[in-house]
Amino acid sequence: MNGLSPTQELQAAASRCVKCGLCLPHCPSWSYSQRESDSPRGRIELAAAMASGELIPDAVGQARLNACVLCRACETVCPARVPFARLMDQTRARWPMRRLWFGALFLHKFGKALARGSAWLGVVSGMVRWLRLRIRHPLLEMLPSKLVLHRRALAQQDAGDDVGLFVGCVTDAIDRATLNDAAVLLECSGARVRWVEGGGCCGALPRHQGDAEGAATRLRQNTACTEACSCNVLISVATGCAAEFMEYPRYSEDPQAQSWAVRHREVMNYLQTVQGRLKFRSCSRKVWLHQPCSAQHTLKESDAARALLASIPQLRLKEANGQFCCGAGGVSMFHSLQQAQELGERVVGEFLESGSDILLTSNIGCALHLRRILRADGHAHAVRHPVNLLREQLQEQPTDA
Ligand code: SF4
Ligand code: SF4
Repeated sequence: MNGLSPTQELQAAASRCVKCGLCLPHCPSWSYSQRESDSPRGRIELAAAMASGELIPDAVGQARLNACVLCRACETVCPARVPFARLMDQTRARWPMRRLWFGALFLHKFGKALARGSAWLGVVSGMVRWLRLRIRHPLLEMLPSKLVLHRRALAQQDAGDDVGLFVGCVTDAIDRATLNDAAVLLECSGARVRWVEGGGCCGALPRHQGDAEGAATRLRQNTACTEACSCNVLISVATGCAAEFMEYPRYSEDPQAQSWAVRHREVMNYLQTVQGRLKFRSCSRKVWLHQPCSAQHTLKESDAARALLASIPQLRLKEANGQFCCGAGGVSMFHSLQQAQELGERVVGEFLESGSDILLTSNIGCALHLRRILRADGHAHAVRHPVNLLREQLQEQPTDA
């Protein structure tokens, strides 16, 4: 886009680093291993040396790059404004990661058909319950206790913002409860809601693994589906998807991609703007709010969830210190297992210490990872999206359309 070759672009980004080291204490992978090659500064040098041919890309170097959780905390604090995410995208596109088989499942037609067919979901839901009673597998431990089979029939309102609710891939397959709760809150705020489906993954899953072509295909399909839905605002319930939409202009010059990036909102952020139209019943539960890295460092919108939850009378709200990623970032919970486990345990430890009943997080990846760690340690606490609680506490419960 700027006339530079990918290698030149990568080197230009790397050359901005003045090696001050200010980013190191903010980097979760450095805090885990204390190795320079696991720090932002170390990764920048490694990526630049691999791009210039000074260093042969081998499995060891690639493992150091792959252990990056893509939290972007380093970008937030970097005084030299090193575009670290862009640099990592280019690096992974050149030296892709080993693909996740279940990631491919969600990205291909079979996965989409599975996610869309409620009959299939019914079978899968039954199988999951059966398997969880017999097998303790980390992938099964991630899933919610109950899979909701149907997406809500949307109300046919004649006025209000035309809102398209992006169903995504993983969320649509295993967290339809959150999609339904978001739809109810949006309708109660006066919006006309439509489901935006057909595009599947927002593109983050292939991009994090270095599949730039796969991510570009998702981007094209999502912008076409959103355009076809004739909405004015596009909303996603996962902060990870919202962050990917926000970055579409970085990946594509297509005017539609540019336009939807501007008209896209993360659900909590949108609901905050219409907060006055939503009234909540009091609730004396103690909840703990985890702020995903995508909300803190890409969207830079961690206030919305806090403000909305604070409008539930008597709710006892505590917030995570948010210093480090929970370990789920990017796809590292599947690639850097020990690091993901330790980072996740730190977050779970802080949650348990708070004495709260529910862990709330607005990103599906964080929810899956933290739920698995809690269950593996024998804790039965609920891990939920903030919209689940907001929907439960609505003063006027809508009748189903
Ligand atoms: S803060 Fe920025 S300039 Fe300093 S070492 Fe980290 S990436 Fe480089
Ligand atoms: S994105 Fe996060 S994990 Fe990766 S180098 Fe930066 S701070 Fe560390």
